Amino acid sequence: MAKQKTSSNEDNNPVESMMSYLIEAAQLIKIDKHILEVLKYPKKIVSVSVPVKMDNDTVQIFPGYRVIHNTSLGPSKGGIRYSMDVNEDEVRALAAWMTWNCAVVGLPYGGGKGGIKCDPTKLSKGELERLTRNYTALMSDVFGPDKDIPAPDMGTGQQEMAWIMDEYSRIVGKHSPAVVTGKPIPLGGSLGRVEATGRGIMVATLGALESLSILPADCTCVVQGFGNVGSISAKLLADQGVKIIAISDVTGGYYNPNGIDIDAAIQHKNKNGGLLKGFAAEKISNAQLLELKTTILIPAAMENQITLNNASKIKAKLIVEGANGPITAGADKILNKKGIIIVPDILANAGGVTVSYYEWVQNKAGEYWTEERVNQQADDTIRRALKTIFYTAQRYKVSLRIAAYIVSINKVTEAFELRGSC
Ligand code: NAD
Repeated sequence: MAKQKTSSNEDNNPVESMMSYLIEAAQLIKIDKHILEVLKYPKKIVSVSVPVKMDNDTVQIFPGYRVIHNTSLGPSKGGIRYSMDVNEDEVRALAAWMTWNCAVVGLPYGGGKGGIKCDPTKLSKGELERLTRNYTALMSDVFGPDKDIPAPDMGTGQQEMAWIMDEYSRIVGKHSPAVVTGKPIPLGGSLGRVEATGRGIMVATLGALESLSILPADCTCVVQGFGNVGSISAKLLADQGVKIIAISDVTGGYYNPNGIDIDAAIQHKNKNGGLLKGFAAEKISNAQLLELKTTILIPAAMENQITLNNASKIKAKLIVEGANGPITAGADKILNKKGIIIVPDILANAGGVTVSYYEWVQNKAGEYWTEERVNQQADDTIRRALKTIFYTAQRYKVSLRIAAYIVSINKVTEAFELRGSC
């Protein structure tokens, strides 16, 4: 593994980025070199070709993956992504990030991730259902309530989770709600799950602002991505008095220095399927949006958005990573040198997996928790984890990101050593 980033191509590989943080943190805490070797690689990579009968009676084959990175702390947990960018390297990195994600907030889970290379916006509901069911059937030996538990990610949501739960239950011959989280409420979904990731980002942002002695009402904020994570983070921060000056989705960025009405933007998106069609704000590109002068920047779309090419132009004081891996390892070094505080993905977006865990616990116990209980427990979890990584960063004189890796790697390594096997 190269320590020095030599080309921007290498810098843009999410596995390389993840690996460089893992190695830096592991060396600081001097973990056993054999354990480090284990942590570098996924435990299992399953690759499938998913056949789907299309509406026009042809059959298309979609490449699908599920990667289990580590199971030392418990069954693997992680979302399923539907996107044309899905490839094995991306899923490998995302699976490892889930291991650190779960460990940093103290969940009894390992890390996994899945994905299908497809454009979900171009598939009919029937095609999406057949794709999801056939992928589930091919992964039925991998998934399981005590083995590997999927959840939504980019391009998937409650409906896909409902199909996975139904197909898996049919295959194993018993009702198995705990095989997947992020389900619709009538099928055993948890109150608060849809908002959980954005809510965790709001809580982490407020915590980081407090440490910088900045009041929310004195802040501006730019959010990239207006899906589940971006739109809810923006809404909840706006509710706290933060002025959201720019938002974006795949159609581009929308800027208003006087503040964007986030409720109106969400309504507009729900009505039109995106922000583009007639949303009233100055149109900018996603690249311009990232470089705006702002207190807070929340990249909440996808990985590799801040790279060696644009890191020196970023003007935010605080970056809270909603997406997984939005900053490459090369860019991270530049931002650190500029003194920009970064709340890393593995902590910032852990509200989602935390409430997924609560959903799984409720399913196993046959319980239904109130939204208040879910939110309060999840908020406490994120606040506690944030405090721990601030403390660890000071103790080791490292960035919050490396501190978060130190905390996670310590937990996974301890479990690994106690179990005595992988
Ligand atoms: P989503 O599909 O709901 O939304 C994605 C958003 O990003 C959409 O607004 C889309 O238009 C936009 N987008 C896509 N490509 C873009 C591009 N090239 N430039 C700018 N915007 C683009 O997905 P989501 O669930 O909100 O996930 C977003 C990120 O957050 C992903 O990295 C995901 O892994 C991470 N994440 C999601 C959850 C969750 O609970 N949903 C939890 C943890 C992490």
